Amino acid sequence: MTESTEGRFPAVFLDRDGVLIEDCGYPHLDEHLVFMPGAAEAVARLNKAGFLAIVVTNQSGVARGLFSEQRMHDFNALMVRTLAARGARIAAVYACPFHDEARDPAWHHPDHPDRKPNPGMILRAAAEHDIALSRSFLIGDRQGDLEAARRAGIPGFLFDGQNLDAFARELLGG
Ligand SMILES: [Mg+2]
Repeated sequence: MTESTEGRFPAVFLDRDGVLIEDCGYPHLDEHLVFMPGAAEAVARLNKAGFLAIVVTNQSGVARGLFSEQRMHDFNALMVRTLAARGARIAAVYACPFHDEARDPAWHHPDHPDRKPNPGMILRAAAEHDIALSRSFLIGDRQGDLEAARRAGIPGFLFDGQNLDAFARELLGG
């Protein structure tokens, strides 16, 4: 991994399932789109504080044959549109469909650099969106999220699953 150059914009990297939306177990159908309490308000608050909001999500459901890559993209697009309608701007969604137990060989990888706890999605987003990693952080609901943050050299915070806006407000210092 090459040293990434420092970009201009601070970013918050957000896990999807269990942070932005409820984790019902491989959410992918439109009716699975249920936001966590305070999700839209949190993203709007972070935007207002100057952070690009970047979603970084493991989606092994594709590798497991539970849904297609296109369905994954469509579901993510619906989430982004719905948030945007509530004044919450997602700059980009990075999703990793690879898994070491993939049924489809196209999605098989023993340890894909994008799959958290690896930091690939964070580092790629940083390069593609001119992100200042030194002023960025991650919010996740699993240790793997925090480990990905650590490997990318940014702080990671474990969301308690309560209210994301209250959590973000606390992180921003009240
Ligand atoms: Mg999660």
